[in-house]
Amino acid sequence: MNAEIIAVGSELLLGQIVNTNARFLSQQLAEHGINVYYHTVVGDNDKRLKGVIESAEQRSNLIIFTGGLGPTKDDLTKETISRHIGKKLVFDEEALVSIKQYFARTGREMTENNKKQALVIEGSDVLPNDHGMAPGMVITVQGITYILLPGPPKEMEPMFLEYGIKSILSKMDKHERIESKVLRFFGIGEAALETEIEDLIEKQQNPTIAPLAADGEVTLRITAKHTSREICENMIAVVEEEILERVGQFHYGNDQTSLMKELVRELTARNIKIASAESLTGGMFQENLTAIPGAGKIFMSGIVSYTNEAKAKLLNVKRETIEKHGVVSEQCATEMAENVRSILDADAGISFTGVAGPEELEGNPVGTVYIGISFRDSEPKSFKLNFSGSREQNRVRSVKYGCYYLLR
Ligand code: ATP
Ligand code: MG
Repeated sequence: MNAEIIAVGSELLLGQIVNTNARFLSQQLAEHGINVYYHTVVGDNDKRLKGVIESAEQRSNLIIFTGGLGPTKDDLTKETISRHIGKKLVFDEEALVSIKQYFARTGREMTENNKKQALVIEGSDVLPNDHGMAPGMVITVQGITYILLPGPPKEMEPMFLEYGIKSILSKMDKHERIESKVLRFFGIGEAALETEIEDLIEKQQNPTIAPLAADGEVTLRITAKHTSREICENMIAVVEEEILERVGQFHYGNDQTSLMKELVRELTARNIKIASAESLTGGMFQENLTAIPGAGKIFMSGIVSYTNEAKAKLLNVKRETIEKHGVVSEQCATEMAENVRSILDADAGISFTGVAGPEELEGNPVGTVYIGISFRDSEPKSFKLNFSGSREQNRVRSVKYGCYYLLR
């Protein structure tokens, strides 16, 4: 099955909104092993939309549209498609009832043009909209499946997950299963990781290996197709083993996990209580940590010590350390981690100090970061990093590296 996504909306072309719908749908389709070859954005214009549909039909047998299902004049997706495939628009009784209920529930007045949203393409399967009014539609004509979804992500995403994907899968070869597994890596760049497994990526047809890099992390999605689930899983396991033999030292988890989730799991399992001292990250570590359920069992407290005075007063960093080595230093990071741990009598302490940017500090270039780690009954240590990103990226990556060092 070859899919493509057409986002309809002049707001997208004007740069007022970003096409997050295409990203969401592409990720979902990739997870189910469906190839997506094109993304198109087109304005609310009948003629241009028709042109885009005609091109899409030449190369894809699954075309997914988002946007333009609403009540206003500029919403024309279903009108254009229905005309194009030679089907009428008819009132869907269920959709009409649910639109009326939606207005009753939200206490708003229903206008005549809202009824337009209950118009669906004759013969289509109607996808209920549990978070809005315009229903979605699925219709197959001459071997091509057209799926129409509303524009607002909070309506489109649940509709797709609840009804859309099932309808797509039901049209695929019933006997073929697609299983996939995501391996997550940290501490290695995408290019370096790909080089290590280049031959595996090149030779694989089934399972396929798809690398993706984001926010300093790299993931590899292994996808296998077969009629038996067990065989799919075995095929994945073989490739996984080959990959981990080469780059296993950077592997931290699978599927829907994160470094922070792994850290919480690990500290909980080892019954370690942790405290943090943050300078350049300004509390980002503790914020991300406390966002994970169960953090209360392992996180004691975090001190944000931004200025030199705060580092001295709240964390007892020695004046001498600051004067002699500066706050962007191995010595300062180590003292911060050790002191926050001992002040709170925690089992582990972590610290972050460095130069987020855009200006350098104490003669250190932007992106110089020291992370201190202290465990009860062992020598505290620190790690130096040199990032080259923006202020925000440098802070986000510092937090991730903090988790990574604690996990090692
Ligand atoms: P409505 O009933 O709200 O009019 P609709 O199905 O007609 O929905 P549009 O009018 O095209 O959809 O878009 C409505 C809103 O949905 C936009 O203002 C925007 O906030 C969001 N939206 C539309 N398309 C996208 C997209 N591709 N990516 C992200 N958001 C989108
Ligand atoms: Mg609209």
